[in-house]
Amino acid sequence: MKYESFLIKYAEIGIKGKNRHLFEEALVNQMKLALRRCEGHFAVTRSSGRVFVDALEDYDFDEVVDALQHVFGITGICPMVVCRVLPIEELAAEVVKFVGSEYPDRHHTFKVHTRRLDKNYPLDSMQINEELGAAILDAYPEMKVDVHQPEILVTVEIRERVYLYSHIIPGPGGLPVGIGGKAMLLLSGGIDSPVAGYMVSKRGVRLDAVYFNAPPYTSERALQKVVDLAQQIAKYSGTIWLHNINFTEIQLYIYEKCPHDELTIIMRRYMMRIAELLAKKYDCLGLVTGESIGQVASQTMTSLAVTNEVCTLPVFRPVIAFDKEDIITMSKKIGTYDTSILPYEDCCTIFVAKHPVTKPVAEVIRRHEKNLEEKIDEMVERAIETDEILIVEGSGVRKYQGN
Ligand code: ATP
Ligand code: MG
Repeated sequence: MKYESFLIKYAEIGIKGKNRHLFEEALVNQMKLALRRCEGHFAVTRSSGRVFVDALEDYDFDEVVDALQHVFGITGICPMVVCRVLPIEELAAEVVKFVGSEYPDRHHTFKVHTRRLDKNYPLDSMQINEELGAAILDAYPEMKVDVHQPEILVTVEIRERVYLYSHIIPGPGGLPVGIGGKAMLLLSGGIDSPVAGYMVSKRGVRLDAVYFNAPPYTSERALQKVVDLAQQIAKYSGTIWLHNINFTEIQLYIYEKCPHDELTIIMRRYMMRIAELLAKKYDCLGLVTGESIGQVASQTMTSLAVTNEVCTLPVFRPVIAFDKEDIITMSKKIGTYDTSILPYEDCCTIFVAKHPVTKPVAEVIRRHEKNLEEKIDEMVERAIETDEILIVEGSGVRKYQGN
């Protein structure tokens, strides 16, 4: 059957009152953006606490469902068949046809649930349920009514037209992007940081991202991998400004001036410092990393504390307590895994010491960072000045050309 319309379900907990209005507005905006990537024209409307998508011309069902499945805030997508408001016998015929086509294998229990918003309809919702239920049983005797735990819930909404639906395709959940401010994601080419970005964005937060690049020690392909990952996240989060920061000279300087077993931790402190400067410059309210306790030497509790002390903005680490397996499962689900496991090295792997400190002492690290005093400030400044910005969207990438 042809679905002319979709009912969009969203979780309503915590979004009462004024927030609800903002929530719905952000949701509708994000849906419109997502649908722009699809063939066809659509109307996205709100009506009595519900959100609808109406297809105004031919469209590709799978493409539209996929687009909506990338909109945070949506918990369910119900494809609907629409007909005129008809007398009960004719309506019953439509409903029978609908059930027959949705469930060719008819061995199911069911229940009809009617919402009568058009109070002029001559029967009330109980009577309509009974009439439609009887008609379905008549047409398909192998089906059975179960009012408590039906396998199929046939929903009939009578408004200015009649809407029929039964399947609910799961959405991603979360909150619509745009209601939660913006954060700066430290995006490497690994498995964890794309998942971390996805998770924060899922709470309604827009993202910018920063990648610390170390040419010629890292290849063009390593950058491309990060761009690809950003693009996969952008399908959910909307546009990401990806800051490609040249980190080579800072890394070499640290390598020259600091003990090698402290390279990683000092390097990470500079990444955080630069990310924070960028975050402030671009109105981000916090940083996001893919760190997870104990995963590597730079992510022991002690190392995390020493890295963290250089930041004044909050640092969000959504996968902090996840096992690697769980992060992998999630990266497969959101579609970043296959890109993340491509072999191109990111900047860290090249300068990694054989035995990095696992219990850095903040005071010692601070003392060794003093070795960098002469040139580090100008290097940080230069890194930010030569920031190459890529504007990454789900549908494509372009270079930022300046104001
Ligand atoms: P990931 O899988 O996200 O790369 P990881 O397990 O490789 O993480 P680290 O290399 O220690 O862990 O990095 C920890 C976090 O620091 C990353 O999750 C990311 O947020 C950030 N990070 C590391 N390297 C870079 C980089 N080159 N550019 C930007 N951020 C980085
Ligand atoms: Mg990494």
